[in-house]
Amino acid sequence: MAEREASGLQVLLSTLQSSCDKEVILNILSVLTDLLSLGTGRRIHYVISKGGSEALLQALTTAARAEPPDHSTLLPLLRLLARVGQRDRKFGLKVQKAEATDIILSLARRNLGHHLHLIHCLWVLRVCASNVTTGTTLGINGAMELLFKVITPYSKRHVRTVRAAIEALAALLKSKSNSRRAVNRGYLGGLLRLYQDWHRNDVSNNYIYIRRGLLLCLKHITNIQLGRETFLCSQGMEILFTSIQDCLFCKNLDPIINTATQILRKCFPKEPLPVATVRSSYSFPLPGNAKAEPPCEGYEGGYESDGEEEAENNENLENKEEDYDLETDVNKLRSRAVLDRPEEELGQYEAMCPELSHNFQELESESEEEKSLEDRTESLPSTPSHFIPSATSVKHPNCRWRNQSVTEMGPDPREKGFEVPQQSWTKKEKCKWDLTDEKRDTVEAAQDEDSCKGEDPARNHALTLCPLPKEAAWYQKMFYPECEASISPSPGGRLESSDTVTNLLEKHQGNIPFHSPRFYIARAKCVKSIPDYKDVAFPDFWGHQPPPYSKPMLERKYGVQRNKVLDDVRRLIQPGDVIGRTVFDLDEPSHSSPGAPGCLTFFSKFESGNLRKAIQVREFEYDLIMNADINSNHHHQWFYFEVRDMKLAVPYRFNIINCEKLNSQFNYGMQLVMYSVKEALQGRPRWLRAGHDICYYKNHYSCSTAAGGGMRGKCYYTLSFTVKFPHKDDVCYLAYHYPYTYSAMMSHLDILEQKRNPKKVYWRQQTLCQTLGGNPCPLLTITAMPDSKKRDDLEQFYDRPYVFLMARVHPGESNASWVMKGTLEFLVSSDPIADLLRKCFIFKIVPMLNPDGVINGSHRCSLSGDDLNRQWLTPSSQLHPTIYHAKGLLYYLRSIGRAPLVFCDYHGHSQRKNVFLYGCSIKETLWQAGCMVDTAVITEDVGYRTLPKILDKVAPAFVMNSCSFLVEKSRESTARVVVWKEIGVLRSYTMESTYCGCSHGLYKGLQLGTQELEEMGSKFCLGLLILHLKSLPCSKKVMAQAALLLDLEEEITDRAQRSCSNSNPETDDEPPCVEEIDYNTDSCSDDEGNFSELDQEIQECLSWVEGETEDEGVTTGQTCSSKARRGLYISSQPASNSTALPLCSTPLGVYSGFESSPA
Ligand SMILES: [Zn+2]
Repeated sequence: MAEREASGLQVLLSTLQSSCDKEVILNILSVLTDLLSLGTGRRIHYVISKGGSEALLQALTTAARAEPPDHSTLLPLLRLLARVGQRDRKFGLKVQKAEATDIILSLARRNLGHHLHLIHCLWVLRVCASNVTTGTTLGINGAMELLFKVITPYSKRHVRTVRAAIEALAALLKSKSNSRRAVNRGYLGGLLRLYQDWHRNDVSNNYIYIRRGLLLCLKHITNIQLGRETFLCSQGMEILFTSIQDCLFCKNLDPIINTATQILRKCFPKEPLPVATVRSSYSFPLPGNAKAEPPCEGYEGGYESDGEEEAENNENLENKEEDYDLETDVNKLRSRAVLDRPEEELGQYEAMCPELSHNFQELESESEEEKSLEDRTESLPSTPSHFIPSATSVKHPNCRWRNQSVTEMGPDPREKGFEVPQQSWTKKEKCKWDLTDEKRDTVEAAQDEDSCKGEDPARNHALTLCPLPKEAAWYQKMFYPECEASISPSPGGRLESSDTVTNLLEKHQGNIPFHSPRFYIARAKCVKSIPDYKDVAFPDFWGHQPPPYSKPMLERKYGVQRNKVLDDVRRLIQPGDVIGRTVFDLDEPSHSSPGAPGCLTFFSKFESGNLRKAIQVREFEYDLIMNADINSNHHHQWFYFEVRDMKLAVPYRFNIINCEKLNSQFNYGMQLVMYSVKEALQGRPRWLRAGHDICYYKNHYSCSTAAGGGMRGKCYYTLSFTVKFPHKDDVCYLAYHYPYTYSAMMSHLDILEQKRNPKKVYWRQQTLCQTLGGNPCPLLTITAMPDSKKRDDLEQFYDRPYVFLMARVHPGESNASWVMKGTLEFLVSSDPIADLLRKCFIFKIVPMLNPDGVINGSHRCSLSGDDLNRQWLTPSSQLHPTIYHAKGLLYYLRSIGRAPLVFCDYHGHSQRKNVFLYGCSIKETLWQAGCMVDTAVITEDVGYRTLPKILDKVAPAFVMNSCSFLVEKSRESTARVVVWKEIGVLRSYTMESTYCGCSHGLYKGLQLGTQELEEMGSKFCLGLLILHLKSLPCSKKVMAQAALLLDLEEEITDRAQRSCSNSNPETDDEPPCVEEIDYNTDSCSDDEGNFSELDQEIQECLSWVEGETEDEGVTTGQTCSSKARRGLYISSQPASNSTALPLCSTPLGVYSGFESSPA
């Protein structure tokens, strides 16, 4: 059947090309018209694949040669060409090959006075111009002059022709050389005047398509520099801005407002960022004779390409680049045991494996102490209730997480019910946090190991808690009811530390699991920061308790970005209310005016803080600039700052104006996080997702070559959000994501060590090395204590395979730390699964690979200005000590035949949802790159897929479909790839956790909180246990124990996953953003007009010819013989693809104008 159809179509097409018989041709055209007006677009593609375009073009050249031209043949031909051509990606080239450009142009010229004929030519012209090269040829041959003649001067006669001409002109102007030609001929001013005329006269909005078409012409012209300059000189900004002011609330006019907004944003004059230099405010002199000027590795993408060259847009460009990045050299993919240092050096790492030489003499006296230790265990938290779902929490998986109507702040009425487990948990905690105990512990912690040696005692005294406002009556009442007079703000407006801290500590309920303010302060005092921080941020000190509910992703309000962009443009056009006052400036503290009446006060000089400058733009709007990573001039993404002196119920707009990424999850439902001190002191100490009207778009700031240190023409993006603070005169903190400082990690380790059951948990905390900034980078060893000193038990202990985990090489990825926190708490817990897991593995863990970056508020780099996860091939012992020694330890393990079974580096991912793994596979990489793979030569253990498959089942936030096992060239120096290749670890992974939320599974539609991130960390451990049981020989005892524990577990998680499994295997990459992010690129957004629109135009024109309700002065009687009418005929059934028309299905009245327009 298909074959017959094919042959039938081919006969038709070849006859069309060769026949000279008019009757035959008309019949074929009629058949083709009928064929294509029914069915779906697939039919047209089928015709194209059979050479339909070529045949029609051939027929056109033949028919056009006839003298006089026979329009009864030409018109149906042109209609078919327009319909087929717009779907044929190679149409432009085919037109050139058939040498048909001139034919179509001259047909149009000859028919200038005959609108029905002309309109047909214009449709085909527009379709031809969709190919930039063909469009340029048409431009050179005078197409634009012809079109301009048709559309000017303003007239409401022949609106269909005008529309077709404008749309053809817009298509031609996609060619940059056409745009230059148009500007040089003065068409830009002409288009602006024409737009104004149509805008003024189209009071009832009947000609939206014409107005939008004119804007599309302007949009394309202003893609070139010359176009933007001319636009500005012609008062384009004022004209467009004013014209859309009265349209803003009319939804019908969206195509106009959106296009105008895009042009306005694009043409807004470029400015440098309002900072003296884009280099970081802080610099760090590198040790030795290391490069004096640290490297500014090439900025990955984001250069503004104002290249005027013509480029065919290649839709597959992106994919191709991705594939091109894949490593296809089999030799480079093979594991090879190289060494980047002398072998003797590895000896030093023996000391980092004390477990291998431990003789456990202490087990002798076990029986004596047994009792007291046992008691201690009882008071320990086994594991927070959320780690392993209980039957009750699973029965109603939605009740706990799906809490749609939760207010941003303030207690949730349902909260009480949730607090129960927490409280029962806390009680035990409280006994632990006995005051006398705690004081001793704090001292111990402060003097712990090498962490605080050589501390300047004066510095310890200088440390203050920063968030206490000077006129904080509420605070005084709460903490100093007895002696209000004694509080005297220090000159800087900040209270003296010791009193404040002591008083606060007395009020602290100590009920936040695994957090102790005392430990925190003790640790924070030892931290060495480049700016020499003297303040501690309140949330880090006081602690964070996750709320009992998860927040759904933020629904994007319609037009939110458009309104913000228009507000930005208003700064230029109506600057009346612009204040422009710097209120915070790291570089020039004297220039800022803190405490100015009616304005917010900003601060960020504390651990992980990052804010460089704050400018009050309008009364309730602030532009914020983040600091670059130290010794670098870019990497702005992470932010964390304090704000105070706010008014109640006022929406404050914040714009972070030096973002760099091309897109952001802030465009797809992600919110930032906020912490209110008042809320915390009222018993709700928590970071919450906050902010509304959130969007992320390209702005008008750019970086000059000089300022960027050689980076040419870099552009910036704005993250804009609005916040209503929960209290008046509160102190609030805003951050990119849940902060997790170095001190938080160090004090967490103190608590874990103290809380573990030393009888069961083997725990060693050592220092992997000192960082460049002089902070210790801790290394942990966790496993189970041997059951006894018996030889069998000790052998089992020494023989356990290793698991190597790391986190936070990228300081801005605080989510990685929360996942690591979950892993650590689970590993030392008394949960029976943890107990079993410890017996299966020895864990080597570096919980924070880049302490300096975290401390100093960097996003990506270390103090050397390097991305540490690009240094694994040849780390420098001087510049990248943590990487150098982590790799050294791995080399050592390999050298003693103990390379880890699993290696995993925890990261955060800013562009995608869910949690997933990146792994390494030779075969998958070669297949993806399209290389022939000789499976006989390359053998590969597919064991790397087991762990992610398990996690997909047991961890609700984890999604197997998001995982990838490809090895990219650009990643050859990452931990994952190097450990896989050089250490020979088959299961070498990067674990990526979203900053946003989940698109699949139990948490679908929700943003992740710290609770879900920690849960991921504990589920990762569970996954390791199952992996062990699946892939390694185990003793019967272990198997039996595990079977008992896991059966229950699996059943529960299975059920939980099933109950909400609607996982479709589609890719989870984000769809194009609803609003254009980058105004400089020429994206094919929907309002540019699509297939169905032109189809619709063609059909309408026909029905109008049929009905002879003319306004175009066509004498149909002459042109339409009965046979021609047959060609014009379309079935009364609507073409199937018209059902997909976005606009005709809604009563927008867009088309009605063409029917009812006055003559
Ligand atoms: Zn990362």
